[in-house]
Amino acid sequence: MNRQTYAEGIAEQEAIDYINSVYEKVKQRDPHETEFLQATKILFDSLIPVFVKNRTYIEHNILERIIEPERVISFRVPWVDDEGNVQVNRGYRVQFNSALGPYKGGIRFHPTVNLSVMKFLALTQIFKNSLTGQPIGGGKGGADFDPKGKSDQEIMRFCQSFMTELYRHIGPDIDVPAGDIGVGKREIGYMFGQYKRLRGAYEAGVLTGKGIHYGGSLGRTEATGYGTIYFVEEMLKEKRTTIKNKTVITSGSGNVAIHAMEKAIQLGARVVACSDSNGYIYDKNGLSLQTIKRIKIDEGGRIKEYLNYHPEAEYFDDAKQIWSVPADIALPCATQNEIDLEAANMLIENNVKVVVEGANMPCTREAIDVFIENGVLFGPAQAANAGGVAVSALEMAQNSARLKWTFEEVDKQLKNIMQTIYRNVVNAANEYGHPGNLVVGANIAGFTKVADTMIEQGVV
Ligand code: NDP
Repeated sequence: MNRQTYAEGIAEQEAIDYINSVYEKVKQRDPHETEFLQATKILFDSLIPVFVKNRTYIEHNILERIIEPERVISFRVPWVDDEGNVQVNRGYRVQFNSALGPYKGGIRFHPTVNLSVMKFLALTQIFKNSLTGQPIGGGKGGADFDPKGKSDQEIMRFCQSFMTELYRHIGPDIDVPAGDIGVGKREIGYMFGQYKRLRGAYEAGVLTGKGIHYGGSLGRTEATGYGTIYFVEEMLKEKRTTIKNKTVITSGSGNVAIHAMEKAIQLGARVVACSDSNGYIYDKNGLSLQTIKRIKIDEGGRIKEYLNYHPEAEYFDDAKQIWSVPADIALPCATQNEIDLEAANMLIENNVKVVVEGANMPCTREAIDVFIENGVLFGPAQAANAGGVAVSALEMAQNSARLKWTFEEVDKQLKNIMQTIYRNVVNAANEYGHPGNLVVGANIAGFTKVADTMIEQGVV
């Protein structure tokens, strides 16, 4: 073994030992935070090449600093339902990292929300936000509240109570929440109204995803889904092909899924299946997006109602089986851990060529590994679904300048941002010796900028 290889071996061992020791500490501190530990492990494993090359990160103990949230807020959300009963939910805001700018990340209302889910989402948000090139830190919030089946009045009362505590922790230069699962324009509107009332000031930049008439950006609703498809297009360019005439399956039928389907169809793809948490619909000739929008957006219905309008389609009562549908491109756009090893193997058996994450962490670690081993092009969430938060940052910029850009202007910037993200991710993967591995590339490109900035800002 020559001297250089020997030195590299030592550096690698030192990096692995350091990363493992920090991971063990995280595990000991929060052993029950399954999702957070899962996201931490995926992140840490992909950072080994960074720590081999940059000993200075070890000297600054950057990993242990980065993995501990700057602040975690947990609070009671009491509200009164339509029958006059007092209900209590638990609210959270995880303000994870403010090296690059005010904390930024969505609010999720879903019964599965807990601290582990909030922390994993906030952690991945840091590096996603860094990748966008916009001046925003990372955070996430939410409540274990189930909006399903609630009346509009109940939703309003809940949002107002949630904001009654949250307002003291946020602000246009402090922390800027947005929507996520269960939180759309309506909820953002109710929360903004309450914030305005409590603060006694019109601070448009405190929330993003707002309505168009009070500071919302054109193109924000579409941004995550459209951005995901712009990212897919960049991946396909590398293989000298496009999305045109490709068969696509998309899980979910919410904001991200609908707009990913919309852009894919506009670019000539055939979307044959989508789902909700009850089941999935399939039509080999292509689904009608107009009908899906009518059911899910206008009527708030269930995806199986699609068959009322298109009896030629099929409905299957098990959402997870959507991954058994043959397709060139699979876009998990619903929720975390929806593609496990079994689902990944179904996709591979059916010759899937591209899997891109529209949702946050929809693929388990094992699923990602088999995609990469089998040569499936894999686009990780941190990069592929960053379009939503990127346009949120554009919304903040418009609010600060009291300006309003056209849809075309925003969409053009979104496309540029997605192309830049793709290039930066590919370059980082190449530079650190993992060509083609976009998971490693995205984590490294997102991480190094945050880590370098934290070092510049001192131990704070
Ligand atoms: P929505 O609430 O608008 O939609 C979620 C969709 O997923 C619904 O159709 C829901 O169905 C479905 N769903 C939930 N669980 C399952 C399941 N187990 N199997 C199949 N379908 C399921 O949320 P968004 O579209 O906004 O968010 C989706 C994902 O994208 C989340 O991971 C979110 O964090 C991520 N994301 C969202 C961004 C945004 O801008 N909105 C930005 C970046 C990431 P049902 O109606 O039955 O609940």
